[in-house]
Amino acid sequence: MEDFPSRFDVVAISTNERVDLLLRQASQFKPEGVCVCSPTARDTGAEIASAVGAQFHEGEAGLTEMVARYDADIVVVATVGFVGLMPTLKAIERGITVALANKEVLVTAGDLVMAAARERGVKLLPIDSEHNALFQCLNGCGEQSVRRLILTASGGPFRGRQPETLAAVTPDEALAHPTWNMGRKISIDSATMMNKGFEMIEAAHLFGVPPERIEVVIHPQSTIHSMVEYVDGSILAQLGRTDMYLPIQNVLMWPDRVENGFEPLDFAQLGQLTFEKPDPEGFPCLAYAYEAAARGGTCPAVLNGANEVAVARFLAGEIGFLGIARSIRNALDAHTLVSDPTLEQIHEADKEGRDAAQAVAAGTLG
Ligand code: MG
Repeated sequence: MEDFPSRFDVVAISTNERVDLLLRQASQFKPEGVCVCSPTARDTGAEIASAVGAQFHEGEAGLTEMVARYDADIVVVATVGFVGLMPTLKAIERGITVALANKEVLVTAGDLVMAAARERGVKLLPIDSEHNALFQCLNGCGEQSVRRLILTASGGPFRGRQPETLAAVTPDEALAHPTWNMGRKISIDSATMMNKGFEMIEAAHLFGVPPERIEVVIHPQSTIHSMVEYVDGSILAQLGRTDMYLPIQNVLMWPDRVENGFEPLDFAQLGQLTFEKPDPEGFPCLAYAYEAAARGGTCPAVLNGANEVAVARFLAGEIGFLGIARSIRNALDAHTLVSDPTLEQIHEADKEGRDAAQAVAAGTLG
């Protein structure tokens, strides 16, 4: 935004609790509305709003309120977790293009969201680096020309570890991602590889390619951001620096390509690009995601709800690293599938997944 001031006008912004950043952005962009979600940060949020002359909105409902109230050409949904769903649906209802960085929206309610977008003729532009890569490689091509989508994964901080050594890892070790600098929740999802499972489900919805034609390959350098193999055997890959600036720019400027001052990629310095198969024993979450996608209906919402709570409990020191997968396994086993769920049934499945993960005993290591 600040690098291309003539192209953008910020109408509304939100944060969960990073009020320092909100203050800087609100002072700079002078939006009409600001929203703060976290209850502990709301008072400061209200002060910032009044200081810059913006309307103040609060809580998760405030996000949807802002999308309903202000006119925009594009809504960037970059929240973490299930909370992104309602604002996304509201934007679609209003016919506003959605730039989607939140995975859980399509993981939990992909059928509903995609159907609504098709009905309203609304574009969903993916910001997540893998989906943005697929979006660029597909360049409008339909799924009938596609043999496989190949999602690349860095493998996270525990790539190559013996599964039995994972029980004792700490949140700090799990947060140390080798190639991408990301938030806490998504860093843990990368360490368990649940992140890649979510991305698989998300890609299936976004591009209409079924999960059995989406593969995951470990690519530790994170230079290839994903690939499309066409039915004629030709494979297109999108490469670039590991910097979220690039997919964000691609989506916000789409379909334009605009110079941005990034240094060109130096292939000689890169040396080599390598690939490995994911280890199913050390990272069962990836298989759970394929299982939830195959069962469909409410299963992915249960998977996601259980994961959100389990990750928070791991970060709080309540359960061990392998306790995350255990929590999700329990939740999926306890769930009775509802195929073709309504929005309400998806909310219920989300809650059921959360409750199941909460019920796992503190101290569970796997
Ligand atoms: Mg990603």
